[in-house]
Amino acid sequence: MQPFVPQRLLIEAAVAEAPVTRRIRAAFPKVPAETLSSVQDWKEPGPITPAKRILAVAEHRGEALKPFPKIKHAINLGDYVFNPVSNCHLECSYCILQSYLQNNPVLTVFANTGRFLDAIRALAAAHPGRGLRLGTGELSDSLALDGVTGFSGEWIPFFAGQPDLFLELKTKSDRIDQPLKLDGRGHTVLSWSLAPEEIARREELKCASTARRLDCARRAQEAGYPVGLHLDPLICHEGWEKNYDELLEAIAASLDPRRVAWVSVGSLRYDKALKEIATGRFPQTKIFAEDFIPAPDGKLRYFKTLRREMYRRVWRRLGEWSEAVPRYLCMEPPWMWEEVTERAAPAPETVEARLLARLRELAAA
Ligand code: SF4
Repeated sequence: MQPFVPQRLLIEAAVAEAPVTRRIRAAFPKVPAETLSSVQDWKEPGPITPAKRILAVAEHRGEALKPFPKIKHAINLGDYVFNPVSNCHLECSYCILQSYLQNNPVLTVFANTGRFLDAIRALAAAHPGRGLRLGTGELSDSLALDGVTGFSGEWIPFFAGQPDLFLELKTKSDRIDQPLKLDGRGHTVLSWSLAPEEIARREELKCASTARRLDCARRAQEAGYPVGLHLDPLICHEGWEKNYDELLEAIAASLDPRRVAWVSVGSLRYDKALKEIATGRFPQTKIFAEDFIPAPDGKLRYFKTLRREMYRRVWRRLGEWSEAVPRYLCMEPPWMWEEVTERAAPAPETVEARLLARLRELAAA
């Protein structure tokens, strides 16, 4: 993964002495830093590329924790999300944050981390005994900045002490030095989004190579972590069949399925704003070369027949690798589940229960 050095630090006065702020300042002693009463003025539309080279450290004031956003007509899961980082210094051409955060693109780390932990404790107290899955991957990569923020050192020990809570840290990075020194006691899943090497090289700029991600996943398993895999977004390209077959062979050669928490499978989807932004920022991208149609959620997706073909192939190969590893389709409607799995579509609660049962099984092993 390409290392990150910001061109400028913006520090909000309220969090100037927070441990995270101190760690960030220590990591970048030569980067000019400015202390402001509020970084709010920087939270406005602006060119994305320079905004991602500024690192703001701010106080989080919004909603600290929420259910992962649901979309209409799809099988949605029951996980929750908190966002200690907003935006990402990596550069995937298809990254939805380019449109989602276009009014607020400055890379921002929130230093008042106790606020997130308080909200998580309150959520657990409101649902005693109920297993809950949480993640930090909605507005950023969960680990790409971990070497700078040290956040995993706060989350992993916290979740290790929560009998009913499970955290997923999802990444395309190789920043696992700190997690490997910690004992997650089965309550943190380290997950990697994976793509064929050709796609990773061409469309997932600055990220760790696929081979490197798989090597990190293998090391995470050896260190005792359950590992999650996300084959999302599947991207159609010349030779996709062979390339995804090879990716699945590489997964099988690297990982022990008995320590895999789940595999998700999704396909490229985007809104109209994203296409305009992405083609401007990444003129070499080929991801928009196929035909797309608008789906009920307003996003553009591959035609149903192509999506189904890609899912079926990958789904079948995953089943050949291990039937015991739970698989799920990301943000797809019940009819697509039925066509891919050749079974009645499960209720969302059934999928969620299966994932939680798998987590409990791995934590107890
Ligand atoms: S790693 Fe994730 S958050 Fe970062 S640019 Fe890629 S898709 Fe976006």
